Amino acid sequence: MFEVVIGLEVHVQLNTKTKLFCSCPTSFNHKQNTNTCPTCLALPGALPVLNKEVLQKAVMLGTAIGATVNRTSYFDRKSYFYPDSPSAYQITQFYTPVIQNGSLDIELEDSSKKTIRIGFAHIEADAGKNIHDGDISKVDLNRAGTPLLEIVTQPDMRSSDEAISYLKKLHSIIRYLDIGDANMQEGSFRVDVNVSIRPKGDEKLYTRVEIKNINSFKFIQKAIELEVTRQSEAWEDGIYNDEICQETRLFDQIKQETRSMRGKEEAADYRYFPEPDLLKAVVTDKMLELYSKIPELPDAKRARFVNDYGMNEYNAAVITSSIEMANFFEEMMQEGISAKNATTWLTVELQSRLKGDINITNSPVDAQKLGLLVKRIEDQTISGRAAKEVLDKLMQENLDVDGVIDALGLKQVTDTGAIEAMCDDIIATNPDKVEQYKGGKDKLFGFFVGQVMKASKGSANPQAVNELLKTKLS
Ligand code: ADP
Ligand code: MG
Ligand code: ZN
Repeated sequence: MFEVVIGLEVHVQLNTKTKLFCSCPTSFNHKQNTNTCPTCLALPGALPVLNKEVLQKAVMLGTAIGATVNRTSYFDRKSYFYPDSPSAYQITQFYTPVIQNGSLDIELEDSSKKTIRIGFAHIEADAGKNIHDGDISKVDLNRAGTPLLEIVTQPDMRSSDEAISYLKKLHSIIRYLDIGDANMQEGSFRVDVNVSIRPKGDEKLYTRVEIKNINSFKFIQKAIELEVTRQSEAWEDGIYNDEICQETRLFDQIKQETRSMRGKEEAADYRYFPEPDLLKAVVTDKMLELYSKIPELPDAKRARFVNDYGMNEYNAAVITSSIEMANFFEEMMQEGISAKNATTWLTVELQSRLKGDINITNSPVDAQKLGLLVKRIEDQTISGRAAKEVLDKLMQENLDVDGVIDALGLKQVTDTGAIEAMCDDIIATNPDKVEQYKGGKDKLFGFFVGQVMKASKGSANPQAVNELLKTKLS
């Protein structure tokens, strides 16, 4: 039937200290219009100067996606009027972008790999923000001139799942490289989705629709699916040529639909021309050498985790999907615990206790504490069940692991003498059950274990209880 064709444009806000062409700070949470200067306000006569840190971050991304770094790139003006852009043009790289011909491998459902080509990545300046407040609209230019890296794929994705895999991978790489915080809600990782369909087997590209500014992976997936449905229904109803045109559409998460926002501009509408106020951007040999030193990336880390810690592929993928999680895990491992336990306590127990604003980076239980807690299970100081209680306590108060174990009286009794006495007691008070058990009712073993555990208020080491009861009842 139909084949889905998707190409993605991602705008990543780079986390440089200062803006792209001036020395204003990039933090725009300050009072409105305070982080501005003649350059980013586009006052006549003010001249832009390129921030080298931006070039550095672009080269890092280029290295990560195996792209060509253009040693000389240029800036161009893209003309359009919008109230949040005081210059009435955006400085971007249209003719010669800094990064070209890279790719990212994504994993498909059947765990085969697919390469998504990244045509180019270019540097450009962000606009300010229009703030609509009842009947009035205001303009805040704190964000104007903030550096963006726009990363554009070839139309290589064939399903919403592939698009999401690509985006998650790219997102994770940005975080690993620490070139941007990539927060989708706050707009520092903005995705434009281009979608078209075509009859299976057809090589040519059909009309694409661009869906803009969708701020979560879930919504992106939904928007693609809705758009594919709209296009294929139009085709089946014989109204494809009337209904589907090249345009920019908005995703409405409440109505669960995409709808037309404006006709899509053609490149000619923007009157691109070389930016006359800026020099060419040059990446020297020395800069290239310096900037292309990048940290271990998700794929490499995942392979190392499988290899070094004997983890399975799935767990290694889950843990390395976020750099914070991967670092947390490795710090836990310093306690000399098993990777399997570390994984469970991190991805299940801790994760389920992180709520609201509490996340892995500001969790009251840090990697060292969680690692030690797991160690206390492994060295049989406490049971797994008791450890959950300790973790609950540690999430509420800043206390140390061993202190809480003591305070809550959760230390396991491993002293066999004490456990033996409890076993004898249970056996003595239940002669009928003992008889039934010896007569072949094996299921009753659980009853004895349960009674001893109860008598010890859960503190007896279950393994010791099992062993002792086995001998005593045989
Ligand atoms: P613009 O900057 O005007 O949006 P580009 O030529 O840079 O346009 O392309 C934007 C994106 O659209 C790219 O990711 C490209 O792969 C994708 N694309 C182009 N044609 C199609 C198509 N027919 N179907 C789906 N995606 C497409
Ligand atoms: Mg576009
Ligand atoms: Zn400025």
